[in-house]
Amino acid sequence: MKNLPLHIKIIIGLLAGIIYAFISSALGWNNFTINWINPFGTIFIRLLKFIAVPLVLFSIIGGVSSLNDISKLGRLGAKTLGLYLLTTIIAVGVGLLLVNLVKPGKFIDEQQQLKNRIEYEKWVQATDGVEGVKDDKNVLTDPEYRDQVEEIASDETLAKAERHAESAVVKEKMASAEKAKDTPPLQFLVDMVPENIMLSLSDNGLMLQVIFFAIFFGLSLAIIPKETAKPVVDFINGVNEVFLKMVDIVMKAAPFFVFALLAGVIAKMADTPAEVFEIFKGLWTYSVTLVIGLAFMAFVFYPLLITLFVKKLSYKEFFKNISPAQFLAFSTSSSAATLPVTMECVEENMGVSKNISSFVLPIGATVNMDGTSLYQAVAVVFLAQMHMVDLTFGQQITIVFTATLASIGSAAVPSAGLVMMIIVLQSVGLNPAWIAIIFPVDRILDMCRTVVNVTGDVSVSTLIAKSEGELPKYS
Ligand code: ASP
Repeated sequence: MKNLPLHIKIIIGLLAGIIYAFISSALGWNNFTINWINPFGTIFIRLLKFIAVPLVLFSIIGGVSSLNDISKLGRLGAKTLGLYLLTTIIAVGVGLLLVNLVKPGKFIDEQQQLKNRIEYEKWVQATDGVEGVKDDKNVLTDPEYRDQVEEIASDETLAKAERHAESAVVKEKMASAEKAKDTPPLQFLVDMVPENIMLSLSDNGLMLQVIFFAIFFGLSLAIIPKETAKPVVDFINGVNEVFLKMVDIVMKAAPFFVFALLAGVIAKMADTPAEVFEIFKGLWTYSVTLVIGLAFMAFVFYPLLITLFVKKLSYKEFFKNISPAQFLAFSTSSSAATLPVTMECVEENMGVSKNISSFVLPIGATVNMDGTSLYQAVAVVFLAQMHMVDLTFGQQITIVFTATLASIGSAAVPSAGLVMMIIVLQSVGLNPAWIAIIFPVDRILDMCRTVVNVTGDVSVSTLIAKSEGELPKYS
């Protein structure tokens, strides 16, 4: 057991967590699990998160200050953003293609689809037609549907759908999405510049401000006289090493922490194993479609891209190098919490130079979310399908744009993608309260899309390192 590689130990922890969770719910131990096991999962996430901010700060300053050619920074920036944008758009495209081919929404019982459509048309009426897709169908007045509509309109399900939309969780999520939507166009630029760096460092959501500060500081450090800069640079590199050591130490206990995390997440989701399956009922076609899309990105698209450009890196070795980060992304559902380990895997196992990884990865964890954008595309079209709403080609193009922007705007924490999906739904005139429908299965799918988010960051940083001649291990 002692000599097993870390990623194998993490897999064992992960599987043990899942198996334990099922036993715990079958035997009615969920309270015990939530009170006595789950806190260790939370401690793990806290440890990783508190390391992430200073690590990003010191490693970017160290990386940028060591650049002997400042124009390189501009080139790196352009490559990084360009590749991140490209992979995100491809991910949305894959999602749209898949959901249009499989049509998971059409697997729902037809009677139920009609009920959904009625609920949708009532919502359009309630908003005086301001919202809503303009299509020719109108089941409320169409004689073809009259009998069914009469039979259904009195049905309990309508009231239930309304109650659902009124629920506190949905309201809260809508409020935060509303806030994000109503910001002026250049606000994202303004938000990148810190007002007070101490405040930015103390708020996990302000990673871009920390990155901005670190680049600026590193640049200034690079252009002041060498003798003045040296003690600062030495100090920063030293501190950076200490934080990397901390990641190492925390990761030694990762298998146990991952066990606690998974046991806790599943115990909170359902009281009995049957309930877990119940949650997926009706949503399994959507979940399977999404997982196929995500698996395609993680196991076909990125490795293909990598083996195409980095010939010496085999498929197997690619995954061996990064699997600790992938398993961690799966168990924490947060690219931000995974970041310290992603950096370690990319630098130590993949051999990417520090000045590339310390620049590309923190930006990626914040803005590059290919899994999230793919998920938003699949979820929005699925919700439209199950409400008998046909989206036109133009609307699907709108989804490409809004899902790309929404994924960039999503924070790297659990469920962020679900909140931002409200904006995508609204952009094509669909009811934002529909997020309530997919909410029950969201956590598990969030785990899967976070793996893709992290794998995307790793792949782009490897490609950039290769193109800059800074991947000595595979050159
Ligand atoms: N949990 C994801 C991440 O941290 C974001 C999302 O909710 O899609 O990468």
